Amino acid sequence: MKGCKVLGVKGDPLNPLEIIERAKKDGRKVLLEPESKTLCSLYGIPVTVFDVAKDEEEAVEKAKKVGFPIVMKIVSPDVLHKSEAGGIVVGVKDEEEVRRRYKEIIGNVKKHIPNARIYGILIQEMAPQGIETIVGCIKDPQFGHAVMFGLGGIFVEVLKDVAFRVAPLSKEDAEDMIKEIKGYPILKGYRGSKPADTASLIDILLKVSKMVEELPIINQMDLNPVFVYEKGAKVIDARIIID
Ligand code: ADP
Ligand code: MG
Repeated sequence: MKGCKVLGVKGDPLNPLEIIERAKKDGRKVLLEPESKTLCSLYGIPVTVFDVAKDEEEAVEKAKKVGFPIVMKIVSPDVLHKSEAGGIVVGVKDEEEVRRRYKEIIGNVKKHIPNARIYGILIQEMAPQGIETIVGCIKDPQFGHAVMFGLGGIFVEVLKDVAFRVAPLSKEDAEDMIKEIKGYPILKGYRGSKPADTASLIDILLKVSKMVEELPIINQMDLNPVFVYEKGAKVIDARIIID
């Protein structure tokens, strides 16, 4: 759990229910990115290294610990789409830039959403670009949890190229979901491009399934994007919504 700290939750090891309870006490159904990523990592799902800074000095200190270049993101329960609110900067390269971007991000968000509660700035490792995928989950009143998989960007937004399976998932279910999407050749490797590590994606799908099985209070989950590489995969952004 190195580098994984959740707002207001002191001391490791963290318990998934503590994170959920804390959000409830704060009157929230939406878990913040650091909370959602901590839950994921408690289930063994690989996430970016991250930490939350409460002021500019802490941002500098934590950026140095994570190692440059870093990504800085707003942590606010009132900001659902961080990029739209000017709440993200990628590729921050040194201390001077951390200080400048810290003020800039808070300024952008305040301009965009004047009364937004700001809980801090998320400092995270800058992950190398991989193939963008999405892993999600929704809860249907009749069928229960269904896990979703798709390729990111236009594949999901325009082409709705996604696969669903009702949880709990078997390994075969997870394999079929990945093979069933139309964009599968992009993962399999085409025209000499190397195949992506679909075994890592299968592992993430199975862990998501286990998580919602054990935490039925989860209403929705969006891991978007999940970068997949030749070797390994990593959750870049995460949002979990509870009942
Ligand atoms: P939101 O969806 O709330 O706008 P994201 O956290 O998904 O914000 O970030 C937007 C985009 O920025 C991502 O799709 C990804 O391309 C890039 N990004 C975010 N975090 C990182 C990171 N740690 N490393 C590399 N790229 C990132
Ligand atoms: Mg996102």
